[in-house]
Amino acid sequence: MHEYPITRRIIEIAGEYAEKYHAKEVKAINLVVGDTCGYVASSIELYFDLIAEGTPCEKARLHIERIEPKLQCSACKTLFVRKPFTFECPSCKGEGRPTDIGQEFYVKSIEI
Ligand SMILES: [Zn+2]
Repeated sequence: MHEYPITRRIIEIAGEYAEKYHAKEVKAINLVVGDTCGYVASSIELYFDLIAEGTPCEKARLHIERIEPKLQCSACKTLFVRKPFTFECPSCKGEGRPTDIGQEFYVKSIEI
């Protein structure tokens, strides 16, 4: 549910951007959403059409680039996607530790 305010904020940012460059409408918004950032990409998509109605983003395409979380091996530094039930490094069997990869959340670009 907390995707509602963040989606509204994204639409505001895109609208302000369009206004700044005297564009009537926003053509596309490219968003980067890591799978462990705390926001659910499908919920943002759901709210987007609803909130965008009547704004310069009404006809905008929302493109969400999702990022899978990755672990980094503490021994050989390999970055890898965790398999279910294990933290084991696929190259040396070392132990994987969490990284910031997958926690991204930002507007990558706005097309007007
Ligand atoms: Zn390793």
